[in-house]
Amino acid sequence: MLFDNHGRPLRYLRLGVTERCNLRCFYCMPEEGLPWSSKKQLLSYEEMIRLVSILADMGIDKVRITGGEPFVRKDLIPFMSELSQIDGIEKLSITTNGTAPLKHIDAMKAMGVHAVNLSLDSLDKERFHKITRRDEFDQVWEFLQALIKSGIKTKINAVIMEEHNLDDILPMVELTKKEPINVRFIEEMPFNGGAKGYQKINWNYQKILEHITNKYPDIIRLDDHVSSTSYNYKLPEAKGSFGVIPAYSRSICSSCDRIRITPKGELKTCLYQAGGFSFRDFMRAGASDDAIREKFMQFFKNRAKNGFEAEKQKEQNDTFESMATIGG
Ligand code: SAM
Ligand code: SF4
Repeated sequence: MLFDNHGRPLRYLRLGVTERCNLRCFYCMPEEGLPWSSKKQLLSYEEMIRLVSILADMGIDKVRITGGEPFVRKDLIPFMSELSQIDGIEKLSITTNGTAPLKHIDAMKAMGVHAVNLSLDSLDKERFHKITRRDEFDQVWEFLQALIKSGIKTKINAVIMEEHNLDDILPMVELTKKEPINVRFIEEMPFNGGAKGYQKINWNYQKILEHITNKYPDIIRLDDHVSSTSYNYKLPEAKGSFGVIPAYSRSICSSCDRIRITPKGELKTCLYQAGGFSFRDFMRAGASDDAIREKFMQFFKNRAKNGFEAEKQKEQNDTFESMATIGG
């Protein structure tokens, strides 16, 4: 097992495969998109396989593909299939906006993908359009239905934003009555690539929970997985469950087992850290596997205690990156 300098096990890699996206969620990136990196600036699939193999050897056993929108990158399915065969990787999952062709669901099922997180901030077509700046609700809804039918473990991620989707909270909780899905309400974070200002949020996880318990006082608290990033609940008799993720309040850092590699190959041992060491440049300069392992270890043993400490190390006037370049 791999441990950081605070005794936390490290098991989980979030791997960003692209910064690009076909949606423009206003809380994630500006309407005109981001200053996209060139293909050469991104890690190649071969470079990603090399890094994941080394990390798997060190103790990472779970990989989540993310981005940007992962399915925007060409040949994602063959790449995932190769990843799924790396020794030591027990769980491979993906976060997607659900606009990809449905045939990819069968391919993911066939390679044994453990879970798919679908980002869906509204069950209302108009609100969805306003938030994502694209008219893709019907396709995403169809993707969700097909995903549930496939039997792959399905989670919905919904970022909760005052003035935008508070009216979706209860309908989403109610969706879990009939569907075997896990809906996770996420606090909005400042990672929007300068798309908009960011004020301290009013709707933190406690307020979201209070809103739910006002209507459903008999919700049942579930045991959280040791390194869970959410507080989890269910309605009595429901097939599914729901959770709240204190992404901005950062009350779960003490059990965080995750690291990130951005599409450009930077290592982030905390979401709130600025920049990150470039394993892309290190590899391209000829680093051996042993040197890469040693370098990883150096950063794992210097990990910030929590998101507040990591944020303090940022320059004061640094703008926050987009979740799409971090690998959200
Ligand atoms: N494009 C894919 C998707 O939307 O699922 C994967 C990448 S996206 C950056 C990953 C997750 O980050 C999504 O669930 C999205 O809602 C979340 N996210 C993006 N910007 C955020 C922000 N500023 N605050 C909170 N969550 C954010
Ligand atoms: Fe794209 Fe995901 Fe960001 Fe929305 S949250 S703009 S779908 S990367």
